[in-house]
Amino acid sequence: LTPVPSDIEISRAQIPKPVNQLAEEVGLLPEELEAYGRSKAKVCLSLLDRLHTQPDGKYVLVAGITPTPLGEGKSTVTIGLVQALSAHLSLNSFACLRQPSQGPTFGVKGGAAGGGYAQVIPMEEFNLHLTGDIHAITAANNLVAAAIDARMLHEATQSDKALFNRLVPSVNGVRKFSPIQFSRLQRLGIDKTNPASLTPEEVTSFVRLDLDPSKITCQTKNTTGFDIAVASEIMAILALADSLEDMKNRLARMVVGTSRSGQPVTTEDLGVSGALTVLMKDAIKPTLMQTLEGTPVFVHAGPFANIAHGNSSVLADKLALKLVGRDGFVVTEAGFGADIGMEKFFNIKCRASGLRPNVVVLVATIRALKMHGGGPNVSAGAPLPKEYIDENLSLVAAGCHSNLKKQIQIAHLFGIPVVVALNVFKTDTQAEIDLVCEIAKGCGASDAVPCNHWAQGGRGSIKLAQAVNEAASRPSNFQFLYNIEMPIADKIRTIAQKVYGADDIELSPAAKDKIDYYNQQGYGLLPICMAKTHLSLSHMPDKKGAPTGFVLPIRDVRASIGAGFIYPLVGTMSTMPGLPTRPCFYDIDLDPVTGEITGLF
Ligand code: ADP
Repeated sequence: LTPVPSDIEISRAQIPKPVNQLAEEVGLLPEELEAYGRSKAKVCLSLLDRLHTQPDGKYVLVAGITPTPLGEGKSTVTIGLVQALSAHLSLNSFACLRQPSQGPTFGVKGGAAGGGYAQVIPMEEFNLHLTGDIHAITAANNLVAAAIDARMLHEATQSDKALFNRLVPSVNGVRKFSPIQFSRLQRLGIDKTNPASLTPEEVTSFVRLDLDPSKITCQTKNTTGFDIAVASEIMAILALADSLEDMKNRLARMVVGTSRSGQPVTTEDLGVSGALTVLMKDAIKPTLMQTLEGTPVFVHAGPFANIAHGNSSVLADKLALKLVGRDGFVVTEAGFGADIGMEKFFNIKCRASGLRPNVVVLVATIRALKMHGGGPNVSAGAPLPKEYIDENLSLVAAGCHSNLKKQIQIAHLFGIPVVVALNVFKTDTQAEIDLVCEIAKGCGASDAVPCNHWAQGGRGSIKLAQAVNEAASRPSNFQFLYNIEMPIADKIRTIAQKVYGADDIELSPAAKDKIDYYNQQGYGLLPICMAKTHLSLSHMPDKKGAPTGFVLPIRDVRASIGAGFIYPLVGTMSTMPGLPTRPCFYDIDLDPVTGEITGLF
C-alpha cells in the first residue's frame, strides 16, 4: 500500500500460519516442537543430533555502517533478504534475530521486529514477552544476588565449621563431597576425598569465601554495579553456549565477586550454578516465528552490543544452518555498526561456535551517509534537517568515502566478501542511490544494491538476494583479527588501530591493574569485547565519518569469565543506557474492552 501503513497495522493485517504448519514446512518433527500459543514455538536441541550429518547452509552476517540514533534498518534488511531468498528465489532460508529488550521497545524504537513490509509477526509477541527467556535471565540474576546475600550473611554470623557442615551432604551416613565441592577443592590444590581428613586451614579455604561487599559484580543490594538483564553475563552466556552442558559449565564459571583475600568467587563456589541451569533450561531453546511472507525466523537471546557481544545465539544459527541444507541461507544480524557488532561476531561468536560466514551484508542509508559526510546531527523525535530531505550528492559522496569505505575495509580484514545493501527511504533520489552503489563497488564491495523491502516486502530485495547468492558462491578466506594468545593490552590495541583507526590506546591505572589481575588469574587467553559508543568509529560520539589521529582511552577493564570475554570500557561509554525525555511508554496502553495494545509502532 502507498503510503506504507504503520508497522503494527501491517503486522495485524497478516494472519500468521499456525506454527506447527511452519515447523513441518521447515522439516521439524512434531516431537521437536514446544508450542507457546498459535504462532511461536520453542525448538528442541535434539534436532542437532538428528541432523548432524546434514551439511550446513550458507551463512550470511548482516552488519551496518555507523548508524544515526534512528537505526539504519539492519533488522529490516535481514527480514527483507530472507523474504526475497525464500519467497521469491525459492532458496531455503532462515533469519536469526535477537529478542528485543524492553529498552528499545518502551524507549525509542517502539519495537524491533523489522519494519514496513519486512517484519516478524505477530510483532506484539516478538516485542514483548516472547517465550519468557528474558524473564528467566532476570530470575537467574536475582538468584545469584540472593546466593551472594545469603552467603555473606551466614559467613558473618556462623563459624567456618558450621558452614562446612552445611555444605557437605550426608549420603547413607557417610559424609562425602559433592562433585562441585570436590572440583573446587582440587582447584585449591587439595586432593582429599574424606571430609574428616581436611585440616582446619583447608576447611577455611574451602568454605569461607569471605566475599568483599565492595567487589561484587552481579545484581545485589551491595553491588558495585548493576547490569540490566539483557546486558548481563547470563544473557551473553545464553547467546554463546552451544549445548546444555556448555551453558551449565559457563554458568558455573561466572565470577560474581572477589573475596577479601583477592580471590575470584564463582557461582560454583556459591553452590548456585546447578540451580541457575535449572532456571535457564527452557531459555536455551530458540523460538520459531515467521516473517510477513511466512518464511521461518529463529528469535533467540538478545545480548547488548556494548558490554556484551550483540549477536543472537550460536545455537539458533547452528540449528538453522542444518535445517536449510547445503544450498540454503541463514541470515543472522550483528548489533550496532560493523566496527562493533561485526568485529565481535567474528572474534567472539565465531571463535565460540567454530562457524565461518560466507558473506557480510553491510547496511547503509543515505541519511547516515549524509551525516558522515558532514550533515547536521539527527536525533530521534526531532524533524530531519533539510539536507536529509533534499538531494545532496556531495554529502553522500563524502559519507561514502569515509564511513562506508572504512566499514567495508573492516569486513575485508576478516577475509569475507561484502555486499552493500542500501536501505532506500522515500526521500532518497535516484542520483543519490546510483552514487552510493558506484562508490561502494569502487571501495571493494563485491556488489552494492538498493533495497526496497520496507515499502515492497521481499520483492523489493530480490537484487540483494541475487547479489548475496552470487557472493556466497565465491571462496572466502576467513581469518581472525588477532591471535588469542596475544597479551590483553595488545589485543585491545589491535582492535583500536585496525578497526577504529586509532593511533594507539591509553590505559588508565585502574585498567592496567585489572589487566595484571586477570593475567594472574589465568584469564589472559580470552577474546576482547569492546564497550564503545556505536555512534562513531572512535570513542567520541560526535566524530562522524572515519576519524583519525586519536588515542583510544580505556578507563576500566572488566571480565565475563562464564561468557568468555574481557570487556574494556572505552572513554565515557555508559553501561546503563537511559531512556529519552519522552519514552515510547507514554503512548503504550491497552484497550480494556477489545484487549488491543496501542502505542507499539
Ligand atoms: P536497526 O536494526 O539497524 O536498528 P531497524 O531495522 O530496526 O534498524 O529499523 C529502524 C527503524 O527504521 C524501524 O522503525 C523501521 O521500521 C524503520 N525503517 C527501516 N527501514 C526503513 C525504510 N526504508 N523506510 C522507512 N522506515 C524504515
